[in-house]
Amino acid sequence: MSIYESLLREIRALLIVDAHEHLAPEKVRLSLKPDVCFLFSHYTVNDLISAGCRPWGITARERWKLIDFLRNTSIPLEERFKVIEPYIKYIKYGTYYRALKIALKEVYGYDEVNWSNYKEISDKMKEENKPGIYDKILVEKCRAKYVLPQWSELDFEKKYMRPVVWVNKLAEIKDFTGLKIKCREEGFDVRSLDDYLNYLDFKLDQWKKRGVVGLKTVSMPYREPPSFDKADRVFRKGLTSFPLDSSERDLLFIFIREKLIELAGKKDLVVAVHAGVWDDFRQLDPRHNIPLFQKYPETKFDLYHMGMPWVRDTAFIAKNYHNVYLNLCWSHIVSSHMTVSGLLEYFDIVPINKIIAFGGDYLVYSFEKVVGHLRIAEENIAQVLSKLVEEKRISSLNEALEVARMLFYENPVKIYGLE
Ligand SMILES: [Zn+2]
Repeated sequence: MSIYESLLREIRALLIVDAHEHLAPEKVRLSLKPDVCFLFSHYTVNDLISAGCRPWGITARERWKLIDFLRNTSIPLEERFKVIEPYIKYIKYGTYYRALKIALKEVYGYDEVNWSNYKEISDKMKEENKPGIYDKILVEKCRAKYVLPQWSELDFEKKYMRPVVWVNKLAEIKDFTGLKIKCREEGFDVRSLDDYLNYLDFKLDQWKKRGVVGLKTVSMPYREPPSFDKADRVFRKGLTSFPLDSSERDLLFIFIREKLIELAGKKDLVVAVHAGVWDDFRQLDPRHNIPLFQKYPETKFDLYHMGMPWVRDTAFIAKNYHNVYLNLCWSHIVSSHMTVSGLLEYFDIVPINKIIAFGGDYLVYSFEKVVGHLRIAEENIAQVLSKLVEEKRISSLNEALEVARMLFYENPVKIYGLE
């Protein structure tokens, strides 16, 4: 058996942390009637549109129209499958599809989806969609000890779910009247920005007690926040029911977001940062966050997705800033090869306690693909570590396995304080 094969076998017995998902509580999944079109409705849907599958002339930015169509079970399955089937042959060599293909085999026992089996697979998917499906997929097949979901609800009824909350939930104020009522219900009479900051302090403590381990935000071109006085004036104007214009709303958002980033550091909550890949990815450049990394040295930042395509830039960010960690969630299925080459460079550049190997990054609709994503991640980590063993930079198989255990388990446990 080659070093790679031995290592892969050992890695496939390790406990893992699934360090980023968009999963809703299991009851949401159980309320659905999943079929093969669900499997194509996330990530692969982008490749389908890119390949030319553009019903109603949609563009990639209108992908929600195709996503909603694929998940709309009141439309006959045949009608939905007919729209995407001609394009599967164009996307089947991509890594998004590969995760689907692996999951299809491992979870449902099929090699491909085609006209002869799409109904049968769909029946099987419905049959398997029963209580315990999260444990079966995430705990039994993926060996996850902890899963870090980002979702609007916090109550997952599963102890292994440790939520990360979308920062805009607190930073983006759309309705001041609703905000006042909500805060009052929780014992806060909000009459100024200071009052709201006190409420945020309370809220983070409360979330932490309920198992929340981090806040999630997204890379954006850096803008210096306004002074407290200026933000307070805008906040008070909002409270008196004067409609705020978009620049005022924006100014307040920038101020509150940064306050939350600072507060997260004080309360030992990680700030997870989406970087790269999506849509007009120029806006999502990981380098936009450098001023935040410098300004809040006590806040831990978990930089996502290797900042693809700025993989090298993220290596230098994590090298130069003690408070930045690198999370390979989503990366393995965006590009397996880019992840492997990037990770080899990470080993040259970044201390290894700063790297998190895996996060599935899926939604309930097709969450069985977490299995496929994990299998690719296991291969990628085994490839990188076996190469380092061959180069004699790692001295033994055992040492390589210790490193794998850090990447898949110990690092995320320490970074997010899971134990
Ligand atoms: Zn995500």
